[in-house]
Amino acid sequence: MDIIHLLPDTVANQIAAGEVVQRPSSVLKELVENSLDAGAQHIDIIVSDSGKTLLQVVDDGKGMSATDARMAFERHATSKISTAADLFNLQTMGFRGEALASIAAVSQVSMTTRRKEDELGTKLEMAGAEVIAQDYCQCPVGTSIAVKNLFFNTPARRRFMKTNSTELKNLYQDFYRIALVYPKVHFTFTSNGECVYNLEPCTTRQRIVQLLAKIGKCDFNDQLLTVDTETELISIKGYVSKPEAGQKNAYQYLFVNGRYMRHPYFHKAIINAYQGLLGADSQPHYFIYFTIAAHDIDVNIHPTKTEIKFADEQAIWPLLYAAVRETLGKFDARPSLDFDQTDAPVIPVLDREQKSRLTMPTTGYSGYNPFEPHGHTGRQQDSGYQKRNWQQESNLKHWQDLYEGFESRSKGEDEGLLPDDGITLVDQVANRWLMCKTADELVLIDQHRAHTRVLYDNYIATHGQQHTSQQLLFPELWQLNADTAAIVREMLDEIKSLGFELQKFGTTAFSVTAVPAELGDNNPISALNNILNNATGENALMTRNEAITLALANSAAISAGKKLSTEQMQQLLRDWLKCPQKAITPDGKPTLTTITFDEIARKL
Ligand code: ADP
Ligand code: MG
Repeated sequence: MDIIHLLPDTVANQIAAGEVVQRPSSVLKELVENSLDAGAQHIDIIVSDSGKTLLQVVDDGKGMSATDARMAFERHATSKISTAADLFNLQTMGFRGEALASIAAVSQVSMTTRRKEDELGTKLEMAGAEVIAQDYCQCPVGTSIAVKNLFFNTPARRRFMKTNSTELKNLYQDFYRIALVYPKVHFTFTSNGECVYNLEPCTTRQRIVQLLAKIGKCDFNDQLLTVDTETELISIKGYVSKPEAGQKNAYQYLFVNGRYMRHPYFHKAIINAYQGLLGADSQPHYFIYFTIAAHDIDVNIHPTKTEIKFADEQAIWPLLYAAVRETLGKFDARPSLDFDQTDAPVIPVLDREQKSRLTMPTTGYSGYNPFEPHGHTGRQQDSGYQKRNWQQESNLKHWQDLYEGFESRSKGEDEGLLPDDGITLVDQVANRWLMCKTADELVLIDQHRAHTRVLYDNYIATHGQQHTSQQLLFPELWQLNADTAAIVREMLDEIKSLGFELQKFGTTAFSVTAVPAELGDNNPISALNNILNNATGENALMTRNEAITLALANSAAISAGKKLSTEQMQQLLRDWLKCPQKAITPDGKPTLTTITFDEIARKL
């Protein structure tokens, strides 16, 4: 029986949408980037209910022909690149050709678009990736795309959206990241009928001041010092705040070739330049714009394109550090600044592993497993506590949002990643949860789920590589019925690549002689049954490989009931914090819950 078939486009697009469209602000980002790529000079953003019911972007860009209007919604359909080589010479924000397809897969889209040379424009209506209507229409030159009822056909994801105020905050955040790079473009932002931003074309400095004036920082212009360094490798321009303007939640933005990026390593260079100038709780504001040859960076690491890999990070670090120091010195912000040897910066040298963690958290996990393979399993407790409900959703989003910011905000000691001023470990509770605290809340992290997330991300990153096996002292027998044995025979290579060694034993059984090393003492038969269940189960949001990987991660993760040493807890926390989707397990279960100090106070 052949079991492999191509997924219908609608399903494939929904899967891709999981990566590209995480929340309304992802839609905003993608649509506005498209408008900018189309050469727009004026962009209106209109949202209702924080983008949940409507998110519309209207531009005066070059528009599309009737055929292109339809093509734009196909997956991997783009006008921006044609060959793999183009990936290393990107001149546009987009290039993957998957945003519109992904957005259309999970919403209802209406678009009107017209090119200058066409008398009539095109109107297109779509829902869940199906074209409902296409017609000619009268419309201005440019494109208007309205995305309605986001996630209308994926209830689980819809439930995941947070309160309007949080989603609105996310929208602003993504809006800032773009508006700060395109000061010459006129942006308006209208939320529930009220025009919140009307940003006229201006200089970069004015744009920063415009935006920050909105949040009550009227005197910000006086606080900004200019950074300006030009070398053969890179041009570093922008603004940093005077040390005394620093604050706890500072505005910190790094851009490369017009694209916002997260980059803890470069963040550290800037922070180090302020050494001795800031109070304990204070962070500088910065708005730094890199310009570098397109072939010196790799943008194509993650669908959202905020992780960017540099060919020569270690050469850029001291340039950035020196540029900021020079600025601080020039404006007399650093009283006794000298650049002699004794004051030379210590550039953190990254080994390969750290490097990949810093720049590619999604693909670079090192695979370090701090938990000894022969620990007590405590498997019995698993089934009960996995059946928890979803009441913590709002918390989750909050945490997801919070941690998105952490990577760029953390002070970053040693590895530059543990947000030491953000979250601190308190202790393990009931051998099951890690209790942590932040400035204003208690956080309980489910050790099993958090570790599942860590292992899963690691396996996905190393997909295709053979897992290491560990021989069993005594083979175990995996007994199946005729149907499932047939499925297992077909999956044998897949199962073996995970690190299992199986031999046929009669017609419906297998003898298991080795298991993936990470599995340790966990029962290999239940792990295999898990894998089989997940591989054959229905899960529209996961590929088969992801489902199998999840089963393995789940079976290998430290179980509830296992006592952990402080070091193990720290390691788990560190690893977990690096996972981009840390707030949920790959199958959508919450990994943490929080209780604010206010809530505690109210109860007492
Ligand atoms: P990408 O931006 O990666 O090419 P998208 O799915 O975002 O992929 O868009 C697909 C194509 O649709 C783009 O390559 C572009 O040709 C066209 N397009 C999308 N939005 C606009 C717009 N606002 N104006 C003109 N063309 C657009
Ligand atoms: Mg795009």
